[in-house]
Amino acid sequence: MYNLILFGPPGSGKGTQAGILVEQHDFLHISTGDMFREELSRNTPLGKEARAYMDAGHLVPDEVTIAMLRKRVDEHPDVTGIIFDGFPRTDPQAAELNDLMREKDSQINALILLDVDADTVVQRILGRGATSGRADDLKEDVIRTRYENFLNYTSPVFDFYENLGLAHRVDGTQTPEQVAAAIDAIIGRRLQEA
Ligand code: AMP
Repeated sequence: MYNLILFGPPGSGKGTQAGILVEQHDFLHISTGDMFREELSRNTPLGKEARAYMDAGHLVPDEVTIAMLRKRVDEHPDVTGIIFDGFPRTDPQAAELNDLMREKDSQINALILLDVDADTVVQRILGRGATSGRADDLKEDVIRTRYENFLNYTSPVFDFYENLGLAHRVDGTQTPEQVAAAIDAIIGRRLQEA
């Protein structure tokens, strides 16, 4: 299995790049944000629990997020690879993902940070908010809270993978095509090393 973490602040292009990758490779795309939005739209107990956190731009608690992620991975035992988009977002989530991969005799092959500054994020997400239908895309203060939460809770996850020699950084302010080419080069390199 080839397992990749697409990493970066909100609005850094993780979803766009995941979409490009699943067209090229036979990978399963797991976006915890998409999963929560799906639960929200169906008004499930999980959706109801997640809503207040999401609307305020805060992270949903680890136990809830990890249980949901584990279930999704378990539902797809035969995939050739997984793209994790928006997970892990905290150190406990990263530790849990490590355990999960080990249980499956698998591993994370690479983490790719799409590096984008706060002002670019705000501009992009406000633009997307016009059509995304997402409550958390509409207000600048909520977007800035999401970016702050990325810096405070999520960015340490980069160091975890950097210490394992698996972390890569791509300039996420480039065009989607340029970012995709940079990701392609990293994946090709890592596949050769594997
Ligand atoms: P996203 O679509 O990845 O920007 O996620 C939207 C929202 O879902 C986030 O602002 C969080 O409230 C929640 N969320 C998504 N993934 C996670 C995660 N791994 N841990 C905690 N909360 C998450």
